[in-house]
Amino acid sequence: MADGTRQVAVVSGAARGIGAAIAKRLGSDGFAVAVLDLDESSCADTVSAIRAAGGEALAVGADVSDEAAVATAVDRIAGELGPPTVVVNNAGITRDNLLFKMSVDDWDAVMNVHLRGAFLLTRAVQKHMVDARWGRIVNLSSISALGNRGQANYSAAKAGMQGLTKTLALELGQFGVTANAIAPGFIATEMTEATAQRLGVSFDEFKATIAAETPVRRVGVPDDIAHTVSFLVSEGAGYVSGQVIYVAGGPKA
Ligand code: NAP
Repeated sequence: MADGTRQVAVVSGAARGIGAAIAKRLGSDGFAVAVLDLDESSCADTVSAIRAAGGEALAVGADVSDEAAVATAVDRIAGELGPPTVVVNNAGITRDNLLFKMSVDDWDAVMNVHLRGAFLLTRAVQKHMVDARWGRIVNLSSISALGNRGQANYSAAKAGMQGLTKTLALELGQFGVTANAIAPGFIATEMTEATAQRLGVSFDEFKATIAAETPVRRVGVPDDIAHTVSFLVSEGAGYVSGQVIYVAGGPKA
């Protein structure tokens, strides 16, 4: 915020992986960070790291697809840290399968965490942003939004995140709120490690194959995404809205 007031950021799925890196980066950027994940106790490492670096953080347990749990979590964050004006919708799951083997449960689970979760959390936070006449929304999409074999559910959800982002940018811009999406390529986390396991290759072998196909000749790391979030939530990025930034080591996406 232009007047330098301390802002409160909510990062979902922040117990590990990309979300943990984002939460730590925002903590060191000076935000008070609500570290939100399914299980409150799983947020302890991220919260400790932020506090050890001199920042302020709160562990919050909530399933982002549960309307009541999200409302309670945002009320708690507003009470304990202050009204949140930054939200990073990062919580995600995969339930990969070819279409003919994909169950309705696998479809619904992915839609519920990514799309319903982003809708619910953003809706709960937006009133604080509108009150403050300032806010930043960052949604995690993926290069899979452009289509990926075995991910009918995930690619549809990640394409949906882009449409949601652009609409939020249109609706909330007049209140000083920007909305942008980040579409990562391959980032080394437990999510991609599980993909390697499913494909029957070692994680190192999997990463080496992806790195060889990537123009910058390496795989992504969570800090690559955290750095982009840091830019998008900054004061200086106030004229960047409704965009999808592919962070994928090259232009392929
Ligand atoms: P990850 O290591 O699997 O971490 C995801 C986190 O989200 C976990 O802590 C998980 O909690 C949490 N979560 C899952 N369901 C939740 C729910 N209903 N409510 C609250 N939290 C929930 O994944 P990641 O690789 O860091 O990915 C983070 C985001 O980036 C996801 O949206 C993913 O789709 C996107 N992305 C990742 C890649 C990549 O290559 N890794 C590429 C493109 C996009 P539990 O541990 O309790 O399940």
